Amino acid sequence: MAGICTIMGVPFNNISMTEAMGIILLNLKERKQTVIYTPNPEMVMAAQKDKKFMQVLNDADLLLPDGIGVVKASKFYHNPIKERVAGCDLIEEIFSRIKTSINTVYFLGGAEGVAEKAKQKMQRRYRGLGISGTHHGYFKDGSPEEKEILDEINRLNPEVLLVGLGFPRQEKWIAKHKNELNSIIIIGVGGSFDVLSGNVKRAPEFYRNHGLEWFYRLVTQPTRFKRMLVLPVFMIRAIGERFGAKIEFKGDRVTIKKIEGKKKKTKRK
Ligand code: UDP
Repeated sequence: MAGICTIMGVPFNNISMTEAMGIILLNLKERKQTVIYTPNPEMVMAAQKDKKFMQVLNDADLLLPDGIGVVKASKFYHNPIKERVAGCDLIEEIFSRIKTSINTVYFLGGAEGVAEKAKQKMQRRYRGLGISGTHHGYFKDGSPEEKEILDEINRLNPEVLLVGLGFPRQEKWIAKHKNELNSIIIIGVGGSFDVLSGNVKRAPEFYRNHGLEWFYRLVTQPTRFKRMLVLPVFMIRAIGERFGAKIEFKGDRVTIKKIEGKKKKTKRK
């Protein structure tokens, strides 16, 4: 395997889509539970302030870079990431590979009706794909409804579980419940059900091929503007950290501190 590229404490697996699929199909065959998250720059930034989230990311089996910002920042690091592996592309690749097998999928997340709409679309697009169940993502943690969802997932026994509750909720939810779940491949998929259902349009190929998906999202969903301001901050901080400087923005003040004893060991190889 091509190893790990750690950016601001988040250890990304430096693997291509094809390699990621190889691992997923092998682990499905060997029934080895595999937790996958696809951090983007917003998530890396959130993990700087949320220690629990950082720990959960570090405990994943695979961390794949969703977001061209992560790939671009990695060019300044040891073992630069060779390819962006977007969550949306990964799950469609899984559907196309397992549609003729007995493996089934469960969609958890999104507003009422969205996962169900995504299920119908995907079953039309990938003939033979078994989607055993869906549930919206607006339940309370620790509620009886959550218990019913966990019981339903285990009863239906899907090999692949997709969890789209938004970050960091979905990653923390998976980390908390993975041991109670029989599913083999568990992936945090963000807003993917909104895209798969057709409610949100993905950027056309031109934007994706030119690393401009973020720009398309900004123009088509301007309400995300505030969230996206984190992107340039991420780039500056990531490059700064690579060269041993911690750069922080507070209001209109910027502080730059030298990072002492920068090398931090992570559990994952
Ligand atoms: N969501 C959910 N439960 C929640 C909060 C959010 O199911 O408690 C869903 C929301 O409906 C949306 C997704 O989580 O489908 C988050 O989408 P967003 O576009 O913010 O995620 P991204 O893809 O940017 O990580």
